[in-house]
Amino acid sequence: MKTIQLNSRPVGIPKLSDFKFVNKEKPTLADGEILLKANYISVDPYLRGRMMEGKSYVAPFELNKVMSSGMIAEVVESKLNGFSKGDHVSGMMEWKEFQTSKGEGLMKVDGSHVSLSVYLGVLGMTGLTAYLGLTEIGKPKAGETVVVSGAAGAVGSVVGQIAKIKGCRVVGIAGSDEKVEELKSKYGFDAGINYKTTTNMTQAIAECCPEGVDVYFDNVGGEISDAVMMNVNRFARIIVCGAISMYNATSVPMGPRVQPILIKNSALMQGFIVSNYTEKFGVAIPQLAKYVQEGKIISTETIVKGFDNVPQAFINLFEGKNKGKMIVEIEA
Ligand code: NAP
Repeated sequence: MKTIQLNSRPVGIPKLSDFKFVNKEKPTLADGEILLKANYISVDPYLRGRMMEGKSYVAPFELNKVMSSGMIAEVVESKLNGFSKGDHVSGMMEWKEFQTSKGEGLMKVDGSHVSLSVYLGVLGMTGLTAYLGLTEIGKPKAGETVVVSGAAGAVGSVVGQIAKIKGCRVVGIAGSDEKVEELKSKYGFDAGINYKTTTNMTQAIAECCPEGVDVYFDNVGGEISDAVMMNVNRFARIIVCGAISMYNATSVPMGPRVQPILIKNSALMQGFIVSNYTEKFGVAIPQLAKYVQEGKIISTETIVKGFDNVPQAFINLFEGKNKGKMIVEIEA
């Protein structure tokens, strides 16, 4: 069976040669274990940070060791009480076609009503990030203006739809005309901006937000966020969720200093990590499931097929090749 290891620490945008496929014997099962077959692998921008050395909120991947991420797997054999052959589980797992587990950190998931992959998207870390970041820090009120960057991606598209449910004016920033069109036609955003073709982002945001920006859900950082910051209102809330535009930087990117903007507007800017909110997951997941069931949140996925394509699917995130959640499906 195949596994995927970290071959080298990337410089700039990751390359295929930063990953290494290594064949291993399929594991055998001990008492108290289950044998898992990978079904779906989530590739996420934050994994770029784990490919580097240094202190962060999760440990870095080690060179020549198997990488991991959120995955859905099928129990193909069980010697563990509570798990049966044919069950599906979600959790952090290694990038291996097969692996054993003692069941720790795994949650059973039911694919009878939704595709199992949705547990990596709207009903998984993605949806939780969008919902908890927006409601816990953003606290949007009806009539306010919410701007979201990375708007056509996994987290961004859900943030915008929740902000619409809350009665806000929603403006999304994304990297192509097609994505911007879909923000409006598919998700009901009020306006969208293509940051790749807009020369004056500060002005474009001002035009789309005539009443200013009350909540900014930041997925990208960098110059896009500098431009949003120029438009924030008094008592604005800025959720710093991601900074993908800076993840591949080889030197520290500099921009305008934010302190005077925060002071002048009594604005709140707060870093957000979804794993700090585990005690709220039990409320957030049923709420997200209800929104999906009621058709208030549309779940979008970009599915890439084949274990061999995990590294390329990950690299494609940095080229904006996904709409919604980027997921690799491992064919039977
Ligand atoms: P995603 O948005 O589905 O995929 C990444 C998107 O980022 C791409 O589709 C691309 O869209 C955009 N992008 C790539 N390079 C860019 C650049 N240089 N400038 C601007 N946009 C760029 O990924 P996601 O999983 O939903 O994650 C979104 C952000 O949230 C990431 O920064 C991620 O690290 C963060 N996140 C944080 C947490 C947390 O707990 N803090 C949890 C999950 C995710 P375009 O075509 O629009 O460029």
